Amino acid sequence: MITCELEYDAKAKLGEGPCWDARNQLLYWVDIERFEVHAYNPATKTDRAINVGQHVGAAVVRQSGGLLLALREGFFHLDPITEQLTHLIDPEPECPENRFNDGKCDPMGRFWAGTMHLPETEMNCGHLYCLDKDLSVRRRVDDVSISNGLAWSADEKTMYFVDSPTRVCVAFDYDKATGGISNRRVVVEIPEGEGWPDGMTIDAEGMLWIALWDGWQVRRYNPQNGALLNAIQVPVARPTSAVFGGENLDTLYITSASTRLPAEALAEQPLAGGIFKANPGVRGTPTFEFAG
Ligand code: CA
Repeated sequence: MITCELEYDAKAKLGEGPCWDARNQLLYWVDIERFEVHAYNPATKTDRAINVGQHVGAAVVRQSGGLLLALREGFFHLDPITEQLTHLIDPEPECPENRFNDGKCDPMGRFWAGTMHLPETEMNCGHLYCLDKDLSVRRRVDDVSISNGLAWSADEKTMYFVDSPTRVCVAFDYDKATGGISNRRVVVEIPEGEGWPDGMTIDAEGMLWIALWDGWQVRRYNPQNGALLNAIQVPVARPTSAVFGGENLDTLYITSASTRLPAEALAEQPLAGGIFKANPGVRGTPTFEFAG
């Protein structure tokens, strides 16, 4: 078991979507239920929040400058200096009860993000979308309940994806030239009672780090055989996602949630909603930027 420490006592409601900005050595993350995009600077341990006025599932760095956001009403551009939001495209205006959840860029700089229904008890209403750098968007997976973790293998031939209520991580053959995915198969299963798979990242050895909501852990799995390899014990029930950062990509930053925890549970985990860090002894992979 690997230990972790508190990096920043963020008191987030639903901290999520960490992504590492290597150029500026910043950790971007979102608080979905507070409608906030955050830029955290580990060097100074300071955090800046920008309220975007609606649910924000993910924020990624754009190569052309600024941030690309997946908000409840679709994809937006955010200028982090002026805090001005610009609407780009809503891929599912016919689903006003859906909001975007987790999202991430692939090795070619396309932005993948998925939706879920509000409330989340309605199953199979969401979809996984892929936004290309020309801002065209394609629906890539249907019948998604709570679209969550995404990762790509280093050889750029496999994409991994988590739809949380299924309790599994699936793999697809990934065509990096077209963004096409095929040959869906289960690669990791989380046993009942051990939490729900949420956000994830992949390390330089091709192993997946999956946050377990209500599982008190971030676990390292081998997607080649489904084996549980290691785990980071976190002091909160609801770790939500993780990303490698730091100058050497050897620090794993973990976001977490405090939302919908009863008062007695919150009393037992006063750091719920915090950002944690661990040094698991393996390097990560870089966070990809949006190419558009
Ligand atoms: Ca999530």
